[in-house]
Amino acid sequence: MTQIYMDHAATTPLRPEVLETMLPYFSEEFGNASSVYGWGRRARQALDRSRDTVAEILGAQAEEIVFTGSGSEAINLALKGAAKAQQKKGRHIVTTAIEHHAAYDSVFWLKKNGYEVTVLPVDSEGRINPEAVRSALRPDTILVSVMHANNEVGTIQPISAIGALVQEHGALFHTDAVQTAGILKLNVDELNVDLLSLAAHKFYGPKGVGALYVRKGVRLEPLVHGGFQERGRRAGTENIAGIVGLASALDLAAAERELESRRLARLRDRLFAGLQEIPFTRINGSRVHRLPNNVSVCFEFIEGESLLLNLDLRGIAASSGSACTSGSLEPSHVLLALGLSHEIAHGSLRLTLGRETTESDVDYVLGEIPEIVHRLREMSPLYQA
Ligand SMILES: *Cc1c(COP(=O)(O)O)cnc(C)c1O
Repeated sequence: MTQIYMDHAATTPLRPEVLETMLPYFSEEFGNASSVYGWGRRARQALDRSRDTVAEILGAQAEEIVFTGSGSEAINLALKGAAKAQQKKGRHIVTTAIEHHAAYDSVFWLKKNGYEVTVLPVDSEGRINPEAVRSALRPDTILVSVMHANNEVGTIQPISAIGALVQEHGALFHTDAVQTAGILKLNVDELNVDLLSLAAHKFYGPKGVGALYVRKGVRLEPLVHGGFQERGRRAGTENIAGIVGLASALDLAAAERELESRRLARLRDRLFAGLQEIPFTRINGSRVHRLPNNVSVCFEFIEGESLLLNLDLRGIAASSGSACTSGSLEPSHVLLALGLSHEIAHGSLRLTLGRETTESDVDYVLGEIPEIVHRLREMSPLYQA
């Protein structure tokens, strides 16, 4: 049976070459990187090498990289850790209405704990205007967090411009780069960021490992106490296999990035062109400032969830912006922030492409979707009206 995976924004398959680099650290090289004997030293070397690789790709220093247990943990550490360490300077934080829950919920946890939060709106394409960030900055603003590219609608933010004015103001700037790592060039100086989060499983590395870039001189209150690992910023025996996998996956992605991005953008545009032929279809997000692998649309008069179930029956794995997975009937906060009505947001479909996606996969999907949409609409009283 056909099996087409078009949900790379949710997670990606581990690359076999990456698995290969990880395997020794599950078996003979099982040492603890803090131990002084051979096993420990070899684990330490693997850790140091991985840190150097990640730092080099980001244009950073090795000591500015902190390995974490996920992208979510990196984001939590960046936001809670920086807010806590800066609280004598001020307690005002600025973020946007379209952040991933890892950032959004961290900021709202801080709000419950005595911080003030300004949430910036986005335009109909999901973009933040740097001038809106400038107007939100106050003397007591300590931290600004804006995601690099959105996981639902693929919109890329003007991070470098926003970072320049945040840094000039003297506040810290964090970006959630979980969707862009491995896809866009990430240079921490060009982006003007103080903190940047990424997660290995979004770029064909293993799950359960992330990294946080922390600019030299930026103090963070750790979330996990108990040891000197990661220079006291994250206690716990290091996940050497995972960290080696993260570094090798990032390295491979960086080498292939430009060619692969162009290939993905062509497939993305082919999908858009086909989907736009279906009546009452809207494109979500920006056409210009867009991740090369993200296709997000809303089909009016249908439920995204029914569409997903029908696609699954035909071997297509995709996702919808509505948060039914979490047991809620509320449509995604991202689609609502773009100004879509609840009804339209409910008919959303996200297809995210990846390394294994071929043109014939795209054509298969384009062969199936119009018929499913048509059939679901035939059953919709709204459409009939
Ligand atoms: C996947 C994702 C995260 C969370 O990363 P995990 O490693 O799954 O915790 C955070 N932000 C964005 C934009 C993501 O796409």
